Amino acid sequence: MYIGVDIGGTNIAVGLVDEEGKIIHKGGVPTGVGRPFEEIMKDIADLIKRVIEESDYKEEDVKAIGIGSPGLPDDEKGTIVFANNLHWHNVPVRAELEKYFDLPIRIENDGNTAGLAEAVAGACKGVENSITLTLGTGIGAGIVINGKPYSGTHSIGAELGHMIVQVDNGIPCTCGNSGCWERYASATALIREGKKAAQDNPDSLIYKSVDGDLDKITAKTVIDAAKEGDATALELFDKYVYYLAMGIITIINSFDPAIIAIGGGVAKAGDFLMDALKKKVAEHIFYKDVPYAQITRAVLGNDAGIIGAAMLGRL
Ligand SMILES: [Zn+2]
Repeated sequence: MYIGVDIGGTNIAVGLVDEEGKIIHKGGVPTGVGRPFEEIMKDIADLIKRVIEESDYKEEDVKAIGIGSPGLPDDEKGTIVFANNLHWHNVPVRAELEKYFDLPIRIENDGNTAGLAEAVAGACKGVENSITLTLGTGIGAGIVINGKPYSGTHSIGAELGHMIVQVDNGIPCTCGNSGCWERYASATALIREGKKAAQDNPDSLIYKSVDGDLDKITAKTVIDAAKEGDATALELFDKYVYYLAMGIITIINSFDPAIIAIGGGVAKAGDFLMDALKKKVAEHIFYKDVPYAQITRAVLGNDAGIIGAAMLGRL
């Protein structure tokens, strides 16, 4: 058995996970960002103990604790170097948890844990090399090479959302650069463009479906309008898919994975998105007559964080 801890800006989820990546039991607590670090870590320790107690297992059955965190974790030192949305800077996660548990403790970025989860128990099961992309506020990425998460020599790699896709007049990004992929292919991008298009086209279904209240526009609003054949929505959906495809082609050209799995809110558009995306990739792929990455939907949803963190203990 393994414990997986998924630390998010709003909630912390903990799961007891078996060898195959199946969640046996799980629980959660609010993160309460802004509280002292030690207090949050004590909540995590209490939650781990509660999750084990509520299952049919005992602490002795657990081989390791894995932690998935946003930001930049340092697994070697057992710290999180920084995680902006948690207001953490150089916090000693492993040392703090070792006060409660005598177990190996691993720490990884949450994009990587999502990728590892899909590789062990989800859409990328059975292949050695895969990449999982999460289309949400930004674009999270988890690269798995030879069955292991890959984040580079200094742990600052795998930031596929920050590939520069627009060199001239790129949209400013939270990373300080401009023109990053996630400014064009995340849910945030679809919402931003949807608002703009609705404002310019009050006749569009995007505008009508929110009764002109542009703040109500979500990625789903835009996608649903496109599904209905609304011209304004289709135009920006096509552009969105184009940007998404260009990034994916760059990923294929760079890594040539066996599978690219796509998750996050936007992926809920299902085949409507996947079919358009596959078509666009096929049109622009470099090597046309040889096999390339299968593009598919991620399947584990929110559980990926717990499962991937737990599977760190298996590496
Ligand atoms: Zn960026």
